[in-house]
Amino acid sequence: MRNYDSLIDIQGDLASGTISCEGLVKSYLERIEEKKHLNAFIEVYEQEALLQAKAIDRKLQDGTAGRLAGMVLGLKDVLCHKDHGLQASSKILDGFKSQFTSSAVQKLIDEDVIIIGRQSCDEFAMGSSNETSIYGKVLNPHDEERVPGGSSGASASAVAANLCLASLGSDTGGSVRQPAAFCGVIGLKPTYSRISRYGLTAYASSFDTIGVISRSVEDAALLLELMAGKDDFDSTVSQKEVPAYSQSLKIEQKPTVAYLKSALGEGVEPKVKEQFLATLTRLKEEGYQVEEVEFSLLDHLLPTYYILTTAEASSNLSRFDGVKYGYRSESTEALESMYKKSRFEGFGEEVRKRIMLGTFVLSAGYFDAYYAKAQKVRRLIRDETLALLAKYEMLLLPTSASTAFKIGEHQDSLSMYMTDLFTVQASLAGIPAISIPNGVDDAKLPIGLQIMAAPFEETKLLAFSKYLASLNKMDVAIPL
Ligand code: GLN
Repeated sequence: MRNYDSLIDIQGDLASGTISCEGLVKSYLERIEEKKHLNAFIEVYEQEALLQAKAIDRKLQDGTAGRLAGMVLGLKDVLCHKDHGLQASSKILDGFKSQFTSSAVQKLIDEDVIIIGRQSCDEFAMGSSNETSIYGKVLNPHDEERVPGGSSGASASAVAANLCLASLGSDTGGSVRQPAAFCGVIGLKPTYSRISRYGLTAYASSFDTIGVISRSVEDAALLLELMAGKDDFDSTVSQKEVPAYSQSLKIEQKPTVAYLKSALGEGVEPKVKEQFLATLTRLKEEGYQVEEVEFSLLDHLLPTYYILTTAEASSNLSRFDGVKYGYRSESTEALESMYKKSRFEGFGEEVRKRIMLGTFVLSAGYFDAYYAKAQKVRRLIRDETLALLAKYEMLLLPTSASTAFKIGEHQDSLSMYMTDLFTVQASLAGIPAISIPNGVDDAKLPIGLQIMAAPFEETKLLAFSKYLASLNKMDVAIPL
């Protein structure tokens, strides 16, 4: 069976009878088996997916199939899916099964999506390389000695290797965009609150968003359209009307565009710069005026992000105490030592480090100096970002300063945190951002281009991405 890059192609072939959903799922299952060593899937729902496929084939015949008939989707291991395992790739959730389905996933199930399995990630979505999963490291299909990015690395690896058509990930500070860039696919982080977080394992609640990893902008638009919108189970979700993103992928009017000066700064790999500049040149040839802008709070992005997210994580993760969920240490006698030992043994090193950092910045005596101050800086970051977006509709930046790095390359946390420099701005500001393929480096490793837009401007963002991707002759994933 051919490799598909978009649901439109699949639905065309389903309509003409060239393929069936059952055949489609079988061929994805074969590929998953073939590429098992990538370690992308924690669990594959073989029988369930086949049954679902058969049911959808019948619905297609009756003309009752939903809008996602033929969409074969993977789920990052942080999304609740009733009666299915959920571990957040952590030992502390050992043996835990979801008791309900997250609202976003349910909306897709209602449209006949086929969920093919559950995908690994960095433990509790904390990381940039998918190396901290309890299930072991995940490989980048473009170079198996390299990381797929993180934390939704396995989801990006799976989409790039054609093990599923798209995946749902979560993006708190870049976890959908950066792995998409490293694997040569598309990664969309919507505006904060656009999609309900009900059933998404919390990392840093004021940053967390569900995002899409796909092989085409169309699929990202359609999945967003179906997941976004109000939800009785999440009081923070936006009540704003959901536009028909998938039907509005043509640019109505050329948007105003600027790029951030840091894109060409120190530490950005030469080939990443070169490809970035090439895209700017193409835009100029198309008649765009592309201006350079400076962001004065650049140095404050990472400290602010890591103070606030660790603070929120330390609070969110306090619920995992060995009592209510998953893992409990065997070797305990008293209640307090049970808590301590379960948490010490259940959480990995990076997660423990963040819980301690977060507890520190929230503790009496340090709260004002760190947490409260970081909140104020966050506001300044948002204000300055929004001021830029009031002047320019699209802000361009590479998704990451480098292409996929080697497994084990970043041994200390700080050097790993530094790799998030370009993605955390959109998360701090709560704005939508997308990563699209922007060519490859000399070793044929994918490079990502990031586009940011004002809050709730996903329609424009997606249309411009589609246009830009086709300008780069890459409106689909980079072939393996
Ligand atoms: N790498 C970032 C972090 O570790 C982002 C993770 C994410 O978006 N979930 O926090």
